[in-house]
Amino acid sequence: MGERSHVPGTVIPLTPVGKLRGASALPVAAGSLAELRAARRVADSRSRHLHDLRISVTDKCNFRCTYCMPKEVFGPGYKFLPHDALLSFEEITRFARIAAGLGVEKLRLTGGEPTLRRNLPTLIEMLAQLRTPAGKPLDLTLTTNGSTLVKQAAALKAAGLSRITVSLDSMDDAVFRAMNDVDFPVADVLRGIDAALAAGLAPVKVNMVVKRGVNDHTVVDMARHFRGTGVIVRFIEFMDVGSTNGWRMDDVVPSRDIVAAIHADAPLVAVDAQYEGEVAERWRYADGSGEIGVISSVTQAFCGTCTRARLSTDGKIFTCLFADQGTDFRALLRGGASDDDIAALLAGVWQTRTDRYSEIRTAETASLRKVEMSYIGG
Ligand code: SAM
Ligand code: SF4
Ligand code: SF4
Repeated sequence: MGERSHVPGTVIPLTPVGKLRGASALPVAAGSLAELRAARRVADSRSRHLHDLRISVTDKCNFRCTYCMPKEVFGPGYKFLPHDALLSFEEITRFARIAAGLGVEKLRLTGGEPTLRRNLPTLIEMLAQLRTPAGKPLDLTLTTNGSTLVKQAAALKAAGLSRITVSLDSMDDAVFRAMNDVDFPVADVLRGIDAALAAGLAPVKVNMVVKRGVNDHTVVDMARHFRGTGVIVRFIEFMDVGSTNGWRMDDVVPSRDIVAAIHADAPLVAVDAQYEGEVAERWRYADGSGEIGVISSVTQAFCGTCTRARLSTDGKIFTCLFADQGTDFRALLRGGASDDDIAALLAGVWQTRTDRYSEIRTAETASLRKVEMSYIGG
C-alpha cells in the first residue's frame, strides 16, 4: 500500500499512510507505547529515528519567491487556509509535547512566513517549556525571510527561541528584488540579520537557494559578505518542491560547483557532521574566518539519514517534503483523543515510513503532484 508506479520500472514510495482513508486503516504503533517511550525513540522502515519536527504556523507569506510561491499561482485569487483551519498554539504545543515523548528533540517553526503568525512569541514561550524524556529543553529554531526581524527579533529571543535561519538569495539588490518578486530590498533583510545578532540569536544562519542563470553569479559575493562575521551561509540546491515552480534539472547548480567557486576565492576545508541527519555538508575557511554549508538535496540525496517530520499549518503530518498527502491529526486534537491515541498514531505513521524521494528523483517525478512547501513548511 502507498506505493505507486509513475514511471515504467520505477517504484515511487510516497508517504504510504497518506493513502489511508478510514480511521480503521490508520497505522498502529508496533510495540506498546510504554516500550517506545522507554526506548525514547521510534524508527521507520529504514531505521531512521524521528528526531526533528518542522511546524508550519502559516501558509501565508509577504514574499512571492519565484521558486516557492510564484505570483501566477499565489496571486490575489489564491485561497489560503481560513483561520479556524490553523492549529491553535495549544494544539501545536500539545502535538510537539507528544512528539517529544517519542524522541523529537528539535523543533523548527516555518511556513509560509512564520513571523506573520500573530503573537508568535507566545507560541515560542509555550514550546520553550517542553522537555525531552531526559529532561532537556528542545532545540527551538525558526526559518524566516527576515522581513519582520527588526521589529520582532528581541521578542522572539526573550520568548525562548534558541537561534534563527534567515533566507537571503543574493547580495545583489536587483537580483534579490526579482527573486522575492515583491521588490523587497537586501538592506532590509541585512537590518533584520543585525537585529537577530544583537538579540543574541546565535548562530544566525543564512539560506541562499541557488538557481542557475538567476543568482548563481552572486554566490561568491554572498560568501565574502558573511565571511568573518560568525554568520553561516548555507547554499541550497534549487528543488522540485510543490507543483508550481517549474523546476528543471538544468536549473540546479550542483553544490560541488558552489564549493569549488568559493574555494577558489578563499580555501575551504571539510568539517565532519555534528550529528546524524544533519542536512548541510559543512566547510570551514582554512584561515579560520568561519564556515559555510551546502545542502545538496538534488545531487547528493540524504534520505538515508532523514529524521524529519513536518506538521502542516492545518495539522497534517507529512513524512517527506515531496509527499502528496499527509495524515490528519487535527481531527484527533480537536476530537477528544487522548495523548496516547495521538502518540500511537504518530508512532505508527513514522514506523511505516518508506520515503526516499530524492534518491529516485527524475524529470518525471518532478512533475508529479506534491504539496506546496509554503503549506507543509520548508
Ligand atoms: N518564509 C521563510 C523563509 O523563506 O525562510 C520560511 C519558509 S521557506 C519555504 C523555508 C526555506 O525553504 C527557505 O530558506 C527557502 O529559501 C527554501 N525554499 C523554498 N523553496 C525552495 C526550493 N524550490 N528549493 C530549495 N529551497 C527552497
Ligand atoms: Fe515566502 Fe519563504 Fe516561500 Fe519565499 S521561500 S515565498 S519567503 S515562504
Ligand atoms: Fe527526507 Fe527529503 Fe529524502 Fe523526503 S526527499 S525522505 S524529506 S531527505
